[in-house]
Amino acid sequence: MLIDSHAHLTLSQFDDDREMVIQRAREAGLKHIITVGLDIEDCHKAIMLAEEYDFIFASVGIHPHDVKSIDTKTYSRLKRLSAHDKVVAIGEIGLDFYRNLSPRKIQFPRFREQLQLAREVSLPVIIHDREAHQETLKILQEERAETIGGVIHCFSGDLAMAKSCLDLGFYISIPGTITFKNSRDYQDLVRELPLNRLLLETDSPFLTPHPFRGKRNEPAYVYYTAKTVARVKNIDVAELADITTCNAQKLFGLFP
Ligand SMILES: [Zn+2]
Ligand SMILES: [Zn+2]
Repeated sequence: MLIDSHAHLTLSQFDDDREMVIQRAREAGLKHIITVGLDIEDCHKAIMLAEEYDFIFASVGIHPHDVKSIDTKTYSRLKRLSAHDKVVAIGEIGLDFYRNLSPRKIQFPRFREQLQLAREVSLPVIIHDREAHQETLKILQEERAETIGGVIHCFSGDLAMAKSCLDLGFYISIPGTITFKNSRDYQDLVRELPLNRLLLETDSPFLTPHPFRGKRNEPAYVYYTAKTVARVKNIDVAELADITTCNAQKLFGLFP
């Protein structure tokens, strides 16, 4: 049984067949899916979806692309949403210097403020770091993220950064890109990481694993990522599923 620790089931790419996508995830044996919020409106949608399906949980936060939309009411709204039963994390939050859809200058304080919010409401964080490794790590360290806990989603840093994140007690989440033929280096990195700190994710509808690369991603495909990580770690896929599922349950408090 696998957990997709990071999906965006609310996005319009799923509008035509959302129910079937969720059905296929269930049939594939997924134990849980975390559908991750991107802005206030999307967080509302994520919670509605989690209310509809017992095995779906939600996270609430403002993605670095959207932090320019944060106003005086945003944090009280987020705080209220975070109190919902099915909300298991604050995220995704962080820094994105690849697309810079919000100015870097404002990404820093909005990231710090959302870390503080997570501490206040006692929820772990889901961190988005794209081409901002040093800055992300520095803020996590300065904000004493080891007292908050969380996961670096779609981890794309190097081994030194991974070790620093592990030192903060964080988990590291592996996306479908590890299945690509040209991801030898990434596989070598994952081989060095401790099993008890790994999570698996799809980031659906994005980052589709081989053999569906180029098509829309969906939570059921987390199986292909699991298969590759198991091969890299030289263990049985069932064992990897057990360990990563247990890790996600522990981090997000997903116990019945
Ligand atoms: Zn992200
Ligand atoms: Zn995401």
